[in-house]
Amino acid sequence: MGGFTVKGFEYLQAELDEMKEEGTFRTLVPLESDQGSRVTIGGKELIQLSSNNYLGLTSHPRLRQAALKSVEKYGAGTGSVRTIAGTFSMHEELEEKLAKFKHTEASLVFQSGFTTNQGVLSAILTKDDVVISDALNHASIIDGIRLTKAARKVYNHVDMEDLERALKESKDYRVRLIVTDGVFSMDGNIAPLPEIVELAEKYDALIMVDDAHASGVLGENGRGTVNHFGLDGRVHIQVGTLSKAIGVLGGYVASTRTLIDYLIHKGRPFLFSTSHPPAVTEACIEAIDVLLEEPELIEKLWDNTEFFKKGLVELGFQTGNSETPITPIIVGDEALSHQFSDLLRKNGVFAQGIAFPTVSRGQARVRTIVTAEHSKEDLQEALNIIEKTAKELNIIS
Ligand code: PMP
Repeated sequence: MGGFTVKGFEYLQAELDEMKEEGTFRTLVPLESDQGSRVTIGGKELIQLSSNNYLGLTSHPRLRQAALKSVEKYGAGTGSVRTIAGTFSMHEELEEKLAKFKHTEASLVFQSGFTTNQGVLSAILTKDDVVISDALNHASIIDGIRLTKAARKVYNHVDMEDLERALKESKDYRVRLIVTDGVFSMDGNIAPLPEIVELAEKYDALIMVDDAHASGVLGENGRGTVNHFGLDGRVHIQVGTLSKAIGVLGGYVASTRTLIDYLIHKGRPFLFSTSHPPAVTEACIEAIDVLLEEPELIEKLWDNTEFFKKGLVELGFQTGNSETPITPIIVGDEALSHQFSDLLRKNGVFAQGIAFPTVSRGQARVRTIVTAEHSKEDLQEALNIIEKTAKELNIIS
């Protein structure tokens, strides 16, 4: 590619060169088809095991139709932030639907799941408060915490004794907020919410759950981990994304009317960033209806999950503590995870290598995610390719 070059970024280039030497420099992989059980990359069809499109909604006919209709009626964009001239009735319709879906009083949509976590945490905590966070929480939670002046404590991953220790040390703060992923995105395990709720009630703490990977996956019609554990009404803040199982784009927080009203005034990404285009919003509204009307999609997702996970375990892979459609194949070495992923792609499977800093050093992996769109034939073929490729690289014998 042409274009001007300017001096000044040599220090960044040096770091990139180091990554190239280590084998951890990545290039983006553009898809040439719609998202599905199989995708086209570089002119070749591959089995897709990398997307968060759990229910296949990204290209569901009802969502496509809803998006097209809304573009015809309302155009491509909204032209303003929500608090000035960018709230359309469809935005409020989506928020009402989400609140009802999550069994809460109200909800508020943000531009992404990432900015939802940032916006909520940075708005509601001050220097008088403490936030107590699981060690493996998502980067958007970590960054949200960095934006607050609250004291912070990190408890060992899903370690309830360590959480209790942190709560005991936190008695003098105005607010204690426990924050956890509902499903951990790199390991696929579920947070022990019943125990967290018990501790929160014992120590008078608030709870915030990020259900990015649980909404549309766990609970009745995919209502998430809170509903999955029968804890409706006992978790103060539920965050979700519209970008994974919902298949579109955005994030939301579901909670009390008070919290939502507060965020409308103080949630900075909500206040200062333009509202979602009509196509995004109408497709999300349709997606919630699909969750309610087509529960067989979630059943298929879980049937596929069981089949594929069992296949990986039988092949002798280390899959950690996964309990959901996310199953890591842990290989340890950073460069090996990328080599494994590259060779899988050559052999017909698209599954990304994930290494430091996304996961701890020495915990590099290829992460697989099955969806409701996969057929058993797709998954068996993927298992065969994974076995052959792993043997080539001596990951299994
Ligand atoms: N939370 C978790 C646990 C996630 O995995 C992600 C997506 N990587 C997000 C939040 C951010 O969601 P979004 O992609 O909608 O910004």
